[in-house]
Amino acid sequence: MTETTDTPPTSTGPGYGWCHWHEGGSGTAVLVRVIEQGSGPGATLYACAPCREQRGLVPFVDQP
Ligand SMILES: [Zn+2]
Repeated sequence: MTETTDTPPTSTGPGYGWCHWHEGGSGTAVLVRVIEQGSGPGATLYACAPCREQRGLVPFVDQP
């Protein structure tokens, strides 16, 4: 019996685990910015902990 276990977890869109600031994978990357566009789904940017510290980025969920 073959079981398929490589289904991605729910609510993890593209970009999860990726830092857009140093452009590399990171286990600490969180969503920090959502760029809304007139057409299309827009873009989401993720930053890891060191990049957030260096650039003073605030996680999207902690923003007012
Ligand atoms: Zn980074």
